[in-house]
Amino acid sequence: MFGLILLVLCVLRFGVLPHYDRQHNAVFVRGPYAASDRTRLLHNTEFVADLHADSLLWGRDLRKRHSKGQVDLPRLIDGGVDLQVFGVVTKVPRQSNYISNRDDTDSLPLLFIASWRSPATWFSPKARALAQAREMTRLAENFPLSLVLNRGDLSFEGIKGLLALEGMHALGGEVEALNEFYSAGFRMMGLAHHFDNEIAGSAHGVDKYGLTELGRSLIPRMEALGITIDLAHASTAAFEDTLGLATKPVVVSHGGVKGTCPGQRNLSDNQLRSIAKNGGVIGIGYWKGAVCDASVKGIVAAILYTVEVAGIDHVGLGSDFDGNIASPFDTTGLPMLTEALLTTGLSIEDISKVLGGNVRRVLSANLPE
Ligand SMILES: [Zn+2]
Repeated sequence: MFGLILLVLCVLRFGVLPHYDRQHNAVFVRGPYAASDRTRLLHNTEFVADLHADSLLWGRDLRKRHSKGQVDLPRLIDGGVDLQVFGVVTKVPRQSNYISNRDDTDSLPLLFIASWRSPATWFSPKARALAQAREMTRLAENFPLSLVLNRGDLSFEGIKGLLALEGMHALGGEVEALNEFYSAGFRMMGLAHHFDNEIAGSAHGVDKYGLTELGRSLIPRMEALGITIDLAHASTAAFEDTLGLATKPVVVSHGGVKGTCPGQRNLSDNQLRSIAKNGGVIGIGYWKGAVCDASVKGIVAAILYTVEVAGIDHVGLGSDFDGNIASPFDTTGLPMLTEALLTTGLSIEDISKVLGGNVRRVLSANLPE
């Protein structure tokens, strides 16, 4: 019996999971990617930040270079990335979609079993969040990667990682859990993911309501702790409610704009202006649902549109790498974006803001001393 269980666990870990990972985090064209020496030189001197990748979810050893998925530490180095925000996914409804999802199914137990995480994580979003935070902390202990916990950590040499919770349902409706998550290292939190929760409605929820009373009470607490609020996936009502209360800049970590790609979760021009007024930043994603044309050209078009409507100080990169998306390149392809931005007429100073300067400004304003 024990032997059979071991066999099943091995098949899941070394057969099913890598296959699923490869299928669900596909790259249209594998590197190496072309960019001129001049572009690479410029790209490598800039502070490059990506606001969202779900790479922790898959149980991949991120210290090693993989031929599947879109992000690992060797590839972040090759891509000239200085700061990677690691999204922590804790619950995804079965057959989730952009339009309307209930919260009564959960597609992740098998993934947590297959990746040999502790049984505590198999059915608990909170345990899943804390387990991924521990994995990130361990990664930062054993590799040239620093975990960003305070403002000063943004100036560490080498790659920096920041932990972000994708959906505050993981708090289980408990106010005290906020402090627990802060202690675990989380410095960014998305209010909702695919479904409405105790804190806020989701753009893909059933009722899509605004901030709940609990949600309202948590906004100032998050700001006081130095946790950046992420409005990606938030319902329109929750988006407005939050900006009405926020006294610090927010992010929309990964998404697109209706101006180049109409869609449920993409931002309207008015929402872009609201983020600009708040002083925040919008991370443009690289997948079809965000930019419609999932190519360097399509991503740059969304960036330029956002610059036009929100202004150059409010645009950044938000790949959603390893977030169950297919992307035109993996993270080693980022110099291609820089090369394309250089042909748009934006100045080097402007490009530097898009590549990471704006993200650094917002995080500096929010992180604790
Ligand atoms: Zn997401």
